[in-house]
Amino acid sequence: MASEEIISLLDSPTQKDKEFIKKAYDFALKAHEGQKRMSGEPYFNHVFETAKILASLQMGPTTIVAGLLHDSIEDGVATEQEIKKEFGEEVLFLVNGVTKLGKVKYRGAERHVESLRKFLVAIAQDIRVLIIKLADRLHNMRTLQYVRPDKQKRIALETLEIYAPLAQRLSIRVLSRELEDLSFQYVDPTSYEKTVNLLKKKEKESMPELNKFIKTVKKALAAENMTHFKTDYRQKGIYSLYRKLQRHENDINNIYDILAIRIIVDTVSDCYKVLGIIHSIARPIPRRVKDYIALPKPNGYRSLHTNVLTKDGATIEIQIRTKEMQHDSEYGIASHLLYKEKGSVKGKENSETRWFKRFLPSIINYAKTSNSSEMTPGWINELAESQKNIKTSKDKDGFIEDLKADFFNERIFVLTPKGDVVDLPRGSCVIDFAFAIHSDIGIHMSGAKINGKMVPIDRELKNVEIVEIITKDSSKPSTKWLEMAKTNMAKRHIANYLEKNKNKNQIPRQK
Ligand code: MN
Repeated sequence: MASEEIISLLDSPTQKDKEFIKKAYDFALKAHEGQKRMSGEPYFNHVFETAKILASLQMGPTTIVAGLLHDSIEDGVATEQEIKKEFGEEVLFLVNGVTKLGKVKYRGAERHVESLRKFLVAIAQDIRVLIIKLADRLHNMRTLQYVRPDKQKRIALETLEIYAPLAQRLSIRVLSRELEDLSFQYVDPTSYEKTVNLLKKKEKESMPELNKFIKTVKKALAAENMTHFKTDYRQKGIYSLYRKLQRHENDINNIYDILAIRIIVDTVSDCYKVLGIIHSIARPIPRRVKDYIALPKPNGYRSLHTNVLTKDGATIEIQIRTKEMQHDSEYGIASHLLYKEKGSVKGKENSETRWFKRFLPSIINYAKTSNSSEMTPGWINELAESQKNIKTSKDKDGFIEDLKADFFNERIFVLTPKGDVVDLPRGSCVIDFAFAIHSDIGIHMSGAKINGKMVPIDRELKNVEIVEIITKDSSKPSTKWLEMAKTNMAKRHIANYLEKNKNKNQIPRQK
């Protein structure tokens, strides 16, 4: 075990990166000296493994260093001042962010699951904080057998309900899949066991057919002069199969993608060429040909899928994609953080902008409230546009900065007294909140409380405040509200109301 073990996982670290990581490695080793985990292992192993997970995701050196230090204040003997002095403000910010997230606990109240996920996103403030937390959680899940049984269940449930879905929203499949399968084992051991056995049986049945078909495909591609491609298998995750079984009457014969052949090619046009060749050697099954390249899934997933009937009567799913699509589907946002920490990679600008356009709606949908029509696609496009302008090496951290600035810093998250999360532009006041909940509540608002205290209705909202609106049937908006409101939705409702009631208001004055 040494810092080299982390560094060796990185693509092309600079000398500076190596030294930075080595320094954090030595610092963490000292900060956790003498401490042991439940397993009896040195505590340091945990932060070391967390850093290795981050390195395998190809995160930048700052994130890896923060991963090494993430428990050094809370559980070790380091201080904030030391970390700031030795590693800088950014690392301290990330370490503190991870600590804050650790304080949020899920105890199985269904109604709050979505709020809690949004809340985590809001307080993380930086996607890197979430990714460190996910890596931390993954290592804790890998070593959960050493934890007290009653705690095991709580942690596993929290992982399954909160952290695995978060990893999924960030499209980091390598994390979400392992988090799901590890926690499923503790949350529902019986179903886990059953699903594993089902999967094994299916694998044993299908492998000979798959291997035979791959040979046929290779021959057919070679005959068309296609030599640049790779094939492999993809097996569905255990929890993901379990969920799908539930949606299909628990009949494994209704599920076609348990085992799939994956063909990875160089270009998009090669994808279609391969699809054509496959359809010429095996009959496609109607309605099971999917073009997620022309029409990506809402989470940004791109690939061609087809299911064919082989000469032996077997049904086989084939997924065809480029290397880039494959990488995106496994590493999601993590892969795109990499491109920026490394500086602009030639020709990446376009793919990145494209990716942004695909990815952002999913995280925004995720953070938005169900009744907020304020989330305009324009805002998403603006953000995507702004990414085009990052070109110089001086801007190499610009991606992350913009992500922080535009996504986290331009939006605030406040809570209703019930714990629902409302997402508003920064600078929004109580009036905006009221209209975001419901236009009637806005119209009849007579006052408001923030964290239990009465406040003026033009009071600007801050992150994570609990806002309660007091209504009265006789209350109504005034022209002043138009100036106080920040969101277009609130302004529109107020203006409509004032316009409709203009005549009524004028009558008393004419008297
Ligand atoms: Mn930890």
